[in-house]
Amino acid sequence: MRPLSILLLSLLSSLAAERPNILLIFADDHALQAISAYGGRFKDIAPTPNIDRLAKQGAVFERSYCANSICGPSRACILTGKHSLINGFIDNNNSKFNGAQPTFPKYLQAAGYETAVIGKWHLVSDPTGFNYWEVLPDQGSYNNPDFIQMDGSTKRIDGYVTDIITDKSLDWLKNRRDKDKPFVLMTQQKAPHRNWSPAERHYKLFDGKDLPEPETLFDDYANRSETLKKQQMTLEKDFWWGHDLLLHGEPTDPRFRKGMANGEYQRMNTAQQAAFDQAYGAENQKLIDDLAAGKLSDKDVTRWKYQRYIKNYLRCIRAVDENVGRLLDYLDESGLAKNTIVIYSSDQGFYLGEHGWYDKRWMFEESLAMPFLIRWPGVVKPGVRSKALIQNIDYAPTFLEAAGVAVPEDIQGRSLVPVLKNAGVAPADWRKALYYYYSGEGTHRVAAHDGVRSDRYKLFHLPKTDEWQLFDLEKDPQEMKSIHADPAYATVLAEMRKTYQELRAQYKIPQG
Ligand code: CA
Repeated sequence: MRPLSILLLSLLSSLAAERPNILLIFADDHALQAISAYGGRFKDIAPTPNIDRLAKQGAVFERSYCANSICGPSRACILTGKHSLINGFIDNNNSKFNGAQPTFPKYLQAAGYETAVIGKWHLVSDPTGFNYWEVLPDQGSYNNPDFIQMDGSTKRIDGYVTDIITDKSLDWLKNRRDKDKPFVLMTQQKAPHRNWSPAERHYKLFDGKDLPEPETLFDDYANRSETLKKQQMTLEKDFWWGHDLLLHGEPTDPRFRKGMANGEYQRMNTAQQAAFDQAYGAENQKLIDDLAAGKLSDKDVTRWKYQRYIKNYLRCIRAVDENVGRLLDYLDESGLAKNTIVIYSSDQGFYLGEHGWYDKRWMFEESLAMPFLIRWPGVVKPGVRSKALIQNIDYAPTFLEAAGVAVPEDIQGRSLVPVLKNAGVAPADWRKALYYYYSGEGTHRVAAHDGVRSDRYKLFHLPKTDEWQLFDLEKDPQEMKSIHADPAYATVLAEMRKTYQELRAQYKIPQG
């Protein structure tokens, strides 16, 4: 018996030492209020059963946030584990990712992992640190998308982008990777980013239904900084007739913005255009008739825009969810599931009509929050709901520790592995607050700001107007009133300002 038990022991220890694969399924602008595992107002009408499989079999992080709420910067924070002002990719308009700097894919590749990124990249320079990559140019397109190849050429693929990115990911998993090595695959969906162009099979989803509105759809921006009224991301004023609402031609009603057509329609072939017109034509004509007949008040018009927007947004998510199911099914069928960490996340959150907005950027909860669901068989207990304050700079050190690679000193995020091993409960010395920065790039005219969020409070600083805003998230979860000047909160304000200075110093944020 003795030799057999030794054999068994060594077999067990080699299994235990087997390094996990990592599949990061990443969406673009997927707000967590549109994932049923997080609850929210669409839980029953627009559930996400496949993303929810990760919640049932793993953990949901309820306090997961980004460090800079826009596409490129969030991705740069994830790759490097560092804040924007340190990794150098601070905004989408002027930054180019310095691909010579260290990233988690490079560290893992050096440690023997096979690495790939497929889908949206949006960091301007070519991907580095990947054995295989195939990425969308810039934002990419929903219909018949182009993909940049590793040799620099571009290939157009017929079909719907969410399905194609998944097809390519599955092809890499099945046929292209070196199967003797553990892998990291980043499957990065374009959806549900603006301009919310659904797959043909989902055009009629939610037809004839009124989807629930947020309580703050008609926010008047009182009791907060005046700068909130100056941005350009309201449903009321800033939605294009063509680009955002997917209508043809130009509006005659001044309550709709004219001048930008639906470029996705222009990319469709004749049959695709016919299917689109068949699905949307009657509803479009009814709007045009109702406007001409003077039947719609200003609020009616905003409500119509909200319904058109939210239905298309959730239709795009339906395709994302179905494709998450395809990936998870393959992991199950192939036997990879048992040794693969799967994460579902998105580069930031999004306003789904809250505060009358679409888009992101402002440090309010809807855009600051990132979904983070993780399944890691044997490590994360199924059904965990974690309240640990986590941020996208934590992903890189988490992946390194999971792979048994030492986390370099200059990485600013913290590995989540101890939290994951402890049923979602953070160790005693975990961060008590996190730092956020938004550069104030030209798009949508959202003012530059930075700030800190603790478990209960959020402090913003607006440098141009030198204003502070303070929110008590327990008493005012919708963030409708800044209490920075309320004497009852003087001590809280002083403490939060101290935390703000401490975190800026800790993360080596330059002055000014
Ligand atoms: Ca984004």
